[in-house]
Amino acid sequence: MKYYSTNKQTAPASLEEAVVKGLAGDKGLYMPERIVPIAPEVIADLKNRSFHEIACIVARAFFGEDIEPDTLDQIVKDTLSFETPVVSVTEKIYSLELFHGPTLAFKDVGGRFMARLLGYFIRKQGLKQVNVLVATSGDTGSAVANGFLGVEGIHVYVLYPKGKVSPIQECQFTTLGQNITALEIDGTFDDCQRLVKAAFMDEELNRHMMLTSANSINVARFLPQSFYYFNAYAQLDRIGKAQDLVVCVPSGNFGNITAGLFAHRMGLPIKRFIAANNRNDVFLEYLSTGVYTPRPSVATIANAMDVGDPSNFARILDLYGADQETHQRITALISGYRFTDEEIAATIKRVYEKENYLLDPHGACGYQALENSLQEGEVGVFLETAHPAKFKDTVDQILGADIEIPGKLQAFMKGEKQSLSLDKDFQSFKLYLLTK
Ligand SMILES: *Cc1c(COP(=O)(O)O)cnc(C)c1O
Repeated sequence: MKYYSTNKQTAPASLEEAVVKGLAGDKGLYMPERIVPIAPEVIADLKNRSFHEIACIVARAFFGEDIEPDTLDQIVKDTLSFETPVVSVTEKIYSLELFHGPTLAFKDVGGRFMARLLGYFIRKQGLKQVNVLVATSGDTGSAVANGFLGVEGIHVYVLYPKGKVSPIQECQFTTLGQNITALEIDGTFDDCQRLVKAAFMDEELNRHMMLTSANSINVARFLPQSFYYFNAYAQLDRIGKAQDLVVCVPSGNFGNITAGLFAHRMGLPIKRFIAANNRNDVFLEYLSTGVYTPRPSVATIANAMDVGDPSNFARILDLYGADQETHQRITALISGYRFTDEEIAATIKRVYEKENYLLDPHGACGYQALENSLQEGEVGVFLETAHPAKFKDTVDQILGADIEIPGKLQAFMKGEKQSLSLDKDFQSFKLYLLTK
């Protein structure tokens, strides 16, 4: 299968090229040339299948032309060593818990899949070492670092802003060692992102080493996220709740919801989608006005969604035609909600006290959007994107409690922090990389 760029100013790429390069040469995002439908009888039978089997069916639709079935099944198996259960919060609202992986957030799925796929291409082609650069404000760095940990032929550099990442988040990528290097940058998240972008553009550096990115612009990270939409449907179908299904996705860069829109395009019977946002609401504004105006992000307590210019917006436009009818097609399928920090806090408290379910600040946006919008006869499922303990300080303060930290997270906290401090200017970063 070929992958074309959303900007259409460059030749289509092979899967391998798209994964290794990340972003297309014309700065567009790669899209698969075809979206292979899953037959209705296969979808009706998903309820009789395991998560692994379901993921293999979806993975073959995307990657079956490029990777032989046994290898692909093995990559899927190695990726999904954990479940994504659907849990009832109320009679009509279900939580798709995506936090049972190693770093307790949904990004584990894409991070692990991409690491294994890239590892496979490196072995097959005998490539020299590939270096992954990733800027993080917390969650992405841990999922990518843990996904790539120990994968031969790949070295990961995680850039994070000094003093702006919580200790719980920091320990998940600074204590790993092996092929993971944590770089503590004396600056903000935006500085980290700027350094990474400058490195990709620097010719001398690119001659010196092979560089790639691992955020949701990479097809190998975002497409596998469609696996759990099919799995959620199967679980709800099993209990007779899959009719008139509304899926709500707490969104930042919109990679997660785009994977859901791909699942829908493949034939998964989802009635409609909701994008739940915090105060960073450019997408909501696009829905209501048809005009997209990117702007700097504002800080909120659901900080993994603090994005002012969602990178996957280009994919959504492309998926729905990029023409005059696009806005109409998008608003017919997707609606939006935005929540302030106060509203998020109130939801966490109320749902904990009333339904005995502990939401994290991102999932709280998803839950609340469903509660506000579900119509008679609809069933809603929201993506619970992270374990609440990842945001322990915030959640504790809201509930006046001391929530439990899962064993997996405690294990990271016992490790020894290893990181290298760097200036925020590009020259020091470049000089450092040139020694590698
Ligand atoms: C990354 C992240 C999001 C946003 O996902 P996108 O794919 O960027 O829209 C939401 N919640 C959590 C906990 C995250 O880590």
